[in-house]
Amino acid sequence: MEWIDLRSDTVTQPTKGMKEVMWQAELGDDVFGEDATVNNLEETAAKLFGMEAGLFCPSGTMTNQIAIKMHTQPGDEVICDELSHVYQYEGGGIAFNSGASVRLLQGDRGRIKATHVSDAINNRDDVHKAISSLVVLENTSNRGGGSCYELEDIAAIKDVCKANNLILHLDGARLFNALVAKQQSAMDYGQLFDSISICLSKGLGSPIGSVLLGTKEKIKKARRLRKVFGGGMRQAGIIAAAGLYALEHHVERLATDHEHAKLIEATLLNNHNVETVLPVETNIVIFRVKENINADELVLKLKEKGILCFTMGKQQIRFVLHLDVTESMVQRTIELLQKI
Ligand SMILES: *Cc1c(COP(=O)(O)O)cnc(C)c1O
Repeated sequence: MEWIDLRSDTVTQPTKGMKEVMWQAELGDDVFGEDATVNNLEETAAKLFGMEAGLFCPSGTMTNQIAIKMHTQPGDEVICDELSHVYQYEGGGIAFNSGASVRLLQGDRGRIKATHVSDAINNRDDVHKAISSLVVLENTSNRGGGSCYELEDIAAIKDVCKANNLILHLDGARLFNALVAKQQSAMDYGQLFDSISICLSKGLGSPIGSVLLGTKEKIKKARRLRKVFGGGMRQAGIIAAAGLYALEHHVERLATDHEHAKLIEATLLNNHNVETVLPVETNIVIFRVKENINADELVLKLKEKGILCFTMGKQQIRFVLHLDVTESMVQRTIELLQKI
């Protein structure tokens, strides 16, 4: 049976074209700064966002954790939405790596507003309080069902940060999905954030890798932290080549994943098992099953039919579209969902 794997956009296999550039990549020792392909990827990604420098890392968890570490001191407080990956899915890393506490905000599907942020800032002169120093946004929001920010909402948050001496970091694991869906420009994001983490191994289809972007000074600090975290890699150009290929060939096609997600959303809205579907904005579909339906059992039932997916929370199931889910697989998914 050919599986239709909707568990995550991390499950993609490198394409033929991608593998070819990987074999041909010019390599060197990246800890010595001598891997031309890694250097090219870091510069290319930085330029795309109009930022000064980039740092290639093995994972998006590492780029986020390095960013949090470089922007905070132990005892500081990080402000983010309660659904954030940095809080939910990075193993308590904010406390473990940075010794910082977290102020969780209740946003709309993972998106927070400037007023939430300003209300959450501690008084610096009150010795009882942790020092608020960093705000982390996530775009698109994973647990928010691939929801995207409006640029003006981010700009308003940036103003609050500026006025209060807070640093602004973006977890942009799926930022390219947002850029494509909202027709926003990478350059605008580069202007708004002090640092940005992008993942090459999600919708972009690389096997491995994320890039942290920021000023030259910050990225110099980040490079040291990457070594301390054990993320200094040697002939890493072999995977960076895949990242360069992905940035060139796999960004615009994300629109196809978004169309596929919309088709599945429309089918789910007419399914008798389904209570609600979070409005689809990008490549993630999260739906809630009716009270009398057991989500785990439904996932097993789908597996028997060849569809792989995960539950997300008690009554919720998540589908993620990506470049290994073809149009005919989407059609098959729709037909199966109509029968279940
Ligand atoms: C996947 C993801 C990351 C990074 O995950 P890694 O598996 O460590 O690369 C970070 N943030 C969000 C929102 C993600 O979905």
